[in-house]
Amino acid sequence: MKIAYLVEDQSDFAVINVLVRRILNEEPEAIYRERRPGGVTGVRGNLVAVAWEAWHSETNGVVVVVDNDGALPLHEPAHLAAQKTQADKGCNYCQLVTSLPELPGGPPLPPLRFAIGVAVQALEAWLLFGADRKQEREPEKLDRRVLKQKLYGAQRLPRPQRLAVGKPIAENVKLDELSQACPSFSYFAESVRQLRS
Ligand SMILES: [Zn+2]
Repeated sequence: MKIAYLVEDQSDFAVINVLVRRILNEEPEAIYRERRPGGVTGVRGNLVAVAWEAWHSETNGVVVVVDNDGALPLHEPAHLAAQKTQADKGCNYCQLVTSLPELPGGPPLPPLRFAIGVAVQALEAWLLFGADRKQEREPEKLDRRVLKQKLYGAQRLPRPQRLAVGKPIAENVKLDELSQACPSFSYFAESVRQLRS
């Protein structure tokens, strides 16, 4: 399966690619797409171009992951009934879903599917749970600064050091336990599984 990634940066890409491989139980052919900075707004600005590029290059899926960074409301399954309304209210997940372009389907090109993840409040919450799940029962309640301090022991670390922390956790965290502790991960995992459908 060929998958393009639109995520916050290259370290997130490395970690998310491991999680996607484990969720799908297969090694995807992974393509990293650089994006403009600017959180969800930057990702939304790139989404249409990345989607068309993926469609033209016979990619099977585009994985989009951003940090929630305190936005409200938090996504929940009840939003699926009215995603445009929830997007207008400020739900990052629903904003991404409603920004996805409609692409022509049908042979000979495979249908292009999207998997959306909005990590609450940041990707580090998922990693912190994997690093220390007995102490951190509700990592989604922590803000980005606290998460980084707890996970890395610092606010800023060079990429190799962040990867040295994050990748082994992504390889080893129990996905079912992570889904229970972090609803934002469970929505992402479900979205990734639908890449196959
Ligand atoms: Zn939502």
